[in-house]
Amino acid sequence: MKYEFKTAEELIGLTKKYKIEISEVAKMYESERANKSVAFVRGQMKTVRDVMYEAVRKGIKSTHRSEWTGSGGDAYKLYNSLKKLGSMMGNKVTIRAMSYALAVSEQNAVMGKIVAFPTAGGAGVIPGVLFSCAEHFHAGKRRLLKGMFTASAIGLIIAERASLSAAKAGCQAEVGAAVAMAAAGLTEMRSGTPEQCLDAAAIGLKSYLGLVCDPLGGLVEVPCIKRNAIGTMAAIGASDMAMSGIKSKVPFDQVVSSMNNIAKNMSSKFRETALGSLAITKTGNDVKRKLGLKVTEEI
Ligand code: SF4
Repeated sequence: MKYEFKTAEELIGLTKKYKIEISEVAKMYESERANKSVAFVRGQMKTVRDVMYEAVRKGIKSTHRSEWTGSGGDAYKLYNSLKKLGSMMGNKVTIRAMSYALAVSEQNAVMGKIVAFPTAGGAGVIPGVLFSCAEHFHAGKRRLLKGMFTASAIGLIIAERASLSAAKAGCQAEVGAAVAMAAAGLTEMRSGTPEQCLDAAAIGLKSYLGLVCDPLGGLVEVPCIKRNAIGTMAAIGASDMAMSGIKSKVPFDQVVSSMNNIAKNMSSKFRETALGSLAITKTGNDVKRKLGLKVTEEI
């Protein structure tokens, strides 16, 4: 296949060889791989965008609380704080990005429809970052799709060379991966070079290396929902750094190798089992008792 890549080095090589952006390589590769037309692949990504948008739209209006952890309604609160920006430290773009991320993650917690991009647990970061920044740029739908294709290329490399599964690699593989993907996608939307996109992804992912998966009661709610919101700030920051000319000392491929190394050495207590960290605090154990789950340890 002409456009196949498994590493960032190969991806950059293809952008140079064909003189195209990362989003174009990702689109062409998907078209080749699926044996579908480019128009079909674009259409699929538009569907993804529309489902994400609907989750954001519903989530920012919802005050629905989940049954077990009582999560929910935070997207509504934060989105409404946009009316009193003078009393907030974040700006319009970051507060909106966080509320959108909360919106999607809260929809996930109440069984609403979301896109697991890259996973259900990390589904809030990419729409949060890309939609909020697209509103800021008054970007057309085409530019938004470019960001999404670039994000998908980064996700593919992580999946190929490490993992996108919390059961294998902890939360670095869910929220961490989503931060890297969003940072690169946003950087291409800002007309960053392919190298800048990879620097943004590396800076983003490095900041999440080693993050454990420790959901209360094994439910994708606490700390997952707020972790998505904070992830948007990390992605925007990583993109700002890359766009300022700051480079990642460790190239993206090596950051992914590092993530894989951590995953191989990570105790199963921190890989989606709810047997460590926040999941075994008193609060975590109260959720377990409510769910009728066995409590084995408390910290
Ligand atoms: S804590 Fe675990 S379940 Fe929650 S987002 Fe992270 S990886 Fe997913």
